[in-house]
Amino acid sequence: MGCERAYIPYGRQNIDDDDITGVIDVLKSDWLTTGPKIEEFEQAFAEFCGVSHAVAVCNGTAALHCAAYAAGIQPGDEVVVTPMTFAASVNCVVYLGATPVFADVEPDTLLIDPAEVEKKITDRTRAIVAVDYAGQSCNYDTLRAIADRHGLVLIADACHAIGGNYKSRLVGSLADLSTFSFHPVKHMTTGEGGMVTTDNARFADQMRKFRNHGISTDHRERVDKGVWSYEMTDLGFNYRITDFQCALGLKQLGKLPEWVERRQAIAQQYDRTLKTVSGVYPLSVRPDVSHAYHLYVVKIDSQMSGAGRDAVFEKMRNNNIGVNVHYIPVHLHPYYQEHFRTIEGLCPVAEAAFRQVLSLPMFPGLTCREVDRVMDILKKALGNKL
Ligand SMILES: *Cc1c(COP(=O)(O)O)cnc(C)c1O
Repeated sequence: MGCERAYIPYGRQNIDDDDITGVIDVLKSDWLTTGPKIEEFEQAFAEFCGVSHAVAVCNGTAALHCAAYAAGIQPGDEVVVTPMTFAASVNCVVYLGATPVFADVEPDTLLIDPAEVEKKITDRTRAIVAVDYAGQSCNYDTLRAIADRHGLVLIADACHAIGGNYKSRLVGSLADLSTFSFHPVKHMTTGEGGMVTTDNARFADQMRKFRNHGISTDHRERVDKGVWSYEMTDLGFNYRITDFQCALGLKQLGKLPEWVERRQAIAQQYDRTLKTVSGVYPLSVRPDVSHAYHLYVVKIDSQMSGAGRDAVFEKMRNNNIGVNVHYIPVHLHPYYQEHFRTIEGLCPVAEAAFRQVLSLPMFPGLTCREVDRVMDILKKALGNKL
């Protein structure tokens, strides 16, 4: 088999010599963790998103936990969430003893439907967690108005959307708190890593403590001041990220804008080809967003296309195309069914979409020829003649 048939994953990181040098420099320095690279990365990231504060943590799940904690979510509270996401977006609510309340998504974008959010609000609701599914920002003006009307905190799980914007406003600045992941499959990586952005100084302080056991000073502050004593004032966690990870993050952030452009160009190439394929539809993109394309998701209508999603998935995988399915609706996971009695039928739009969606390969290193190969194999999987 030649390289022509090599496996194409659905996502892949991009690491160059400049990234490697950045990491090595930190490994040779005095500070491997709680050092100066943390703040440097946080400041660069805050500037990139046009906000005043960014708090770096060890992964995107920790970022969500920090954000939910800063939002003041407590046992007895309800939080409105979307089913069309990775479980972590909802788990953060459960970590704090609160109850997730699922609001269904819009059929064409699979973003949380503001009208459904409104229906789920009670006098116990404390917050909304919106997810920028696939990389397109939610309808934040409408969500903001709902949150303000009911006194709720608006959290954006923006793990898919870094580098995008909504009505010319930057992702990371669209909610009270926005969270990011730097897992290798995301737009930029630190191996494992995460970030929360906010314009609220009190939230930022609370999260800085929360990531360090609920202690008010960190190790370096105490070294600098020549003191040893510290006080734990809240119950926190060790959610710290290392300096060498932040060095990698800084290098990656510099390359992010060109990577997002490349993702958008790949999406256009898919869009153009799919116009000629019946029964396979890309999700709608609203005109007021710049889509960051963490994922390129299509819906397969088996009536029109001649093959169902599962059959297409299997045929493409057998031909070395790393397609994937995002996501099993969170409320259908056994844990949620058992603990929150969330049964099938709760979110019919998300459930129907789940049976049809397929994520095609999408990462900046994907070549035009590889995109063509993905499209040829998709057509073959549907039974169309090449
Ligand atoms: C990746 C991801 C997370 C979790 O991030 P980790 O860094 O893997 O913990 C949470 N929410 C969404 C939408 C994600 O895509």
